Amino acid sequence: MINIDFYKKVTSEAAEKGAIVVAVSKFQPIEKIKTLYELGHRDFGENYAQELVDKKELLPGDIKWHFIGHLQSNKVKLIAPFIHLIHGVDNFNLFKAINKEAVKNNRVIDILLQVYIAEEETKFGLDEKELIDLLEYYFAQKEQLANIRICGLMGMASFTADTHKINGEMKRVKELFNLVKQTYFIFDDYFKICSMGMSDDYPIALDNGSTHLRIGSKIFGARS
Ligand SMILES: *Cc1c(COP(=O)(O)O)cnc(C)c1O
Repeated sequence: MINIDFYKKVTSEAAEKGAIVVAVSKFQPIEKIKTLYELGHRDFGENYAQELVDKKELLPGDIKWHFIGHLQSNKVKLIAPFIHLIHGVDNFNLFKAINKEAVKNNRVIDILLQVYIAEEETKFGLDEKELIDLLEYYFAQKEQLANIRICGLMGMASFTADTHKINGEMKRVKELFNLVKQTYFIFDDYFKICSMGMSDDYPIALDNGSTHLRIGSKIFGARS
């Protein structure tokens, strides 16, 4: 069963602040995704390329699919024909791989750069220096990367009950967002996405200017 009350609550809280909810449907059955679709929801997020493709084939074509996991270069071709936004890009090889597949599909693919803010070892992403280095590299080769479009940043806070800590980490994402916006994208209307906040920390994310909440378990229930 989908938690419709929570779904309505989180989407309206997000809308009040100009943010949207990406419903994270990884490991969730097709029926639940259909239920949310029938309520009018269109943005869904998945972590695994093959699972995403398998689900896409069974669902309506107007769903906007977000890739939110750690994308391997050799999986880009699976999702390149249709992916709406790739949230977790954190290296130059991935820029090249995404651009190459975007060219093959004659489209531009929107991406977010994943910044590293948590203290946990398992989280992917770029620290500030790596972020700046990657952007410098990107702008130096922009002509060869014309089929990717950097639209913002994505961050994941530590998995902790310490809301003060989570707040500090999310503030940091927003600071990095502002820094990058002002330094590199000041006249670029596409650079406007700040993807942060999950089921347990989304209110803090909204307070810190998130534009895309990635909410899974609190909407769909525990993953199987
Ligand atoms: C699974 C996942 C989510 C959703 O997590 P919930 O706690 O179920 O809301 C959000 N972002 C990423 C990157 C995820 O992997």
